[in-house]
Amino acid sequence: MHFLCRCGYRLHDSSDLISYKGTIIADQDMNEFWSLIEKAEKPHAEICDIFSSLNKLMMRCIYQCPSCGRLFIEDQSDNYQLIRFTPCIEGEPEPDVSKNLLISAYEENWKGSITAEWFDEKPWWSECHGTIMPQLNVRLDDLKFDDYPAFEKRFYELLDDLKARQLLNYAVLKVNGRKIFCWQE
Ligand SMILES: [Zn+2]
Repeated sequence: MHFLCRCGYRLHDSSDLISYKGTIIADQDMNEFWSLIEKAEKPHAEICDIFSSLNKLMMRCIYQCPSCGRLFIEDQSDNYQLIRFTPCIEGEPEPDVSKNLLISAYEENWKGSITAEWFDEKPWWSECHGTIMPQLNVRLDDLKFDDYPAFEKRFYELLDDLKARQLLNYAVLKVNGRKIFCWQE
């Protein structure tokens, strides 16, 4: 699923752990939420029931455009259509708001992943042979390569650095579609 923000930015919802997506639980549902957690903690035989009940409580999604800060909230009473909200101060659109309202509670200390992919033959959709794609709340530079040794060196450098900073729980290195290295916490 993807949709366009009013500002032109395209928001994608086709993977897990998206930094601009969240879930809303209604305050009126919180008691049920905690009793489901309590039930899950005790020996029980209704794993599916607990999962589907939690899923139902957490159906409503919220997105924030990372470019302009507009919010989109799903309207459960209208087929989960997205309702757009523009940040305003005294009725005037206010562009200077945090664009990270929906990142993890761990903020920049959130543990994420890096995926590095190299293709000997440059794919039509890529501007270079090798790309390192981080899913992290810290900014990384120098992630595109046309030289394999430099690409591989950078990957292992990042792996060591991010592991030392406790920012990583998964890293994978793929060459021509084959996984040649994988690390998981
Ligand atoms: Zn936008």
